[in-house]
Amino acid sequence: MVQSELRRGRHMQFEEIKHLVDANRNDDIDIFGGEPTIHPEFLKILKYLKTFGTRITLASNARFFSYDEFAKKVADIGVDLIRSSIYGHTAELHDHITTMPGSFEQSIAGFKNIIKYNIPLMVNIVILKPNYKYLKDITQMLIDVGVNEIKYASLILRDNGYDNRNELAVKITESSPYLNEALDLAQSRGVRFVMEKNPVCIAPKYHEFFIGESDPRMDPANTFSKSPACSKCRFNDKCVGVSVRYQEMFGLDELKPL
Ligand code: SF4
Repeated sequence: MVQSELRRGRHMQFEEIKHLVDANRNDDIDIFGGEPTIHPEFLKILKYLKTFGTRITLASNARFFSYDEFAKKVADIGVDLIRSSIYGHTAELHDHITTMPGSFEQSIAGFKNIIKYNIPLMVNIVILKPNYKYLKDITQMLIDVGVNEIKYASLILRDNGYDNRNELAVKITESSPYLNEALDLAQSRGVRFVMEKNPVCIAPKYHEFFIGESDPRMDPANTFSKSPACSKCRFNDKCVGVSVRYQEMFGLDELKPL
């Protein structure tokens, strides 16, 4: 509901949000959709949500956290986890993908403030055609910033991701060597990491770090599927396979049972 209102370009009013969460008091609270931190009443809403005593996670591009005072206020209210994303190890690459000049510098400054104020942070690296050769560099850059929890995820092929799929989507067999390099680095440096929305055969050495599809915003057309050959794979039970839209673009021939 919040998501649909934001897609219509409208901020939900505080009373609407209060009404919505009052009806679901016992659930963990995940704040996402658009960019929550630009809501004019974000801090007031967060304070109210905090009164429930349930776990609160926030998905944010972290750019607003580059303002020290804002980051401190959020830390004082208390958030259990901030989930953010990065698309490159340089401003040139990241800003090219986000199409927002200055977004890299602001997000990195935001990460530093989030870490400074001891708010748990997990940064998602979305594996894309323009950045897959730099996964190790992006990982190194995050380590240098102080990030110690990383998620490596494939592109969700919907909305802008689907419209620009030919420029953004990359085959798993192409990205796999680079991802493995990045994971080797993360492991050697004691960084916690997981893989999501990826088949285990992209990095079987790290099979225990794959997690299932957990995105509540997934639409039915972007569900995951596997090849008939996957029934012979030892990871079949825990592997999500590839999305139906990925299959439409690249087929299933890459999936080789392990
Ligand atoms: S072969 Fe199929 S089941 Fe095995 S890891 Fe790859 S996608 Fe998963």
